[in-house]
Amino acid sequence: MKIPFLNFGATHQPMKMEMMNAFEKVYDSNWFVLGEQVKAFESNYAAFNQVNHAVAVSNGLDALHIALKTLNIGQGDEVIVPSNTFIATVLAISYVGATPIFVEPNIHTYNIDPSKIETAITPKTKVIMPVHLYGQACEMKEIMQIAEKYNLKVIEDNAQAQGATFQNKITGSFGQINGTSFYPGKNLGALGDAGGMTTNDAALYEKAKVLSNYGTSVKYVNDEIGFNMRMDECQAAFLNVKLNYLTTWIEQRQEIAKWYNHHLSNINSLILPVVAQNATHTYHLYVVRTNKRNELMNYLSDHEIGTLIHYPIPPHLQKAYLNLGFSKGDFPIAEEIADTCLSLPIWPGMKEDQVIYIANIINQFFQI
Ligand SMILES: *Cc1c(COP(=O)(O)O)cnc(C)c1O
Repeated sequence: MKIPFLNFGATHQPMKMEMMNAFEKVYDSNWFVLGEQVKAFESNYAAFNQVNHAVAVSNGLDALHIALKTLNIGQGDEVIVPSNTFIATVLAISYVGATPIFVEPNIHTYNIDPSKIETAITPKTKVIMPVHLYGQACEMKEIMQIAEKYNLKVIEDNAQAQGATFQNKITGSFGQINGTSFYPGKNLGALGDAGGMTTNDAALYEKAKVLSNYGTSVKYVNDEIGFNMRMDECQAAFLNVKLNYLTTWIEQRQEIAKWYNHHLSNINSLILPVVAQNATHTYHLYVVRTNKRNELMNYLSDHEIGTLIHYPIPPHLQKAYLNLGFSKGDFPIAEEIADTCLSLPIWPGMKEDQVIYIANIINQFFQI
């Protein structure tokens, strides 16, 4: 049985007509940028994310970039990020001229370790950017307490965890302004690039919206140096349809994770996902760890099962960040995760048969 890492067919096929109709509406409206669909999506997504405002933008990286700009973060400022995040979180910090300060994750949850944040804080620290990695909510109570104590802002990177919660509060609603991504492979994916910001603060909403649209609130009047980082009407129309399914899809991901947990539970040397107390996990990725990661990946590939590594090189060891002066050994937990993690296939609509098949092959691998 051939099993791809990701399969859009199971979700996209049944909603094809709905999506075609959404496209037709935009096509016939002859209005393609900043129209009804974007307006509706901002309101729909704000409601889903239990915040007052959402801003629809071009992609997740731009969302994080604008969020930092909106909070006036720039040259000379330090921003705390987990050492094991996707590069986009760090790039956004670089774009505004600030310095990323890496803090190690918890080796069990893979999310930033709140107990290590305080020692990373200096007089230059302005923002903590927790990343809800793989779909699991960070320990936000502790993080918000530290932010309050040191008068720091919080920008959540919620690209992987739409709909996750910590103490029943939804991710993307803790920070002053937060970024998310609607890249096709994310839990809520457009049919192309798209992203968004969420905030409860009307002034931050206004500023972020203006920054995403050339820094203009009145056409051809520019109050600041903004960007063209808008979401287009087609993507918003698609997302308005898909948002209705997001909760169901998250439940399906959680069910699939349970199947994996069950069918992989008897392999001692395979580390399964761990969910922190009071956190929920939306399983954007189902990540296991083993010292034989590369061998397991090859074995699964030989059996036509697609896997990926999220992520093989931590940001501090990337050539792009040589200037930060880090070397191997500086963030050993991030490095350990990078060397041992493997993401197994998961998508809404995946069947238990497929999970059992994959689990059997993984069991086989560890027996030989
Ligand atoms: C995908 C992702 C982003 C960037 O989103 P894009 O829409 O691809 O720009 C940022 N942070 C994390 C953690 C992501 O997974």
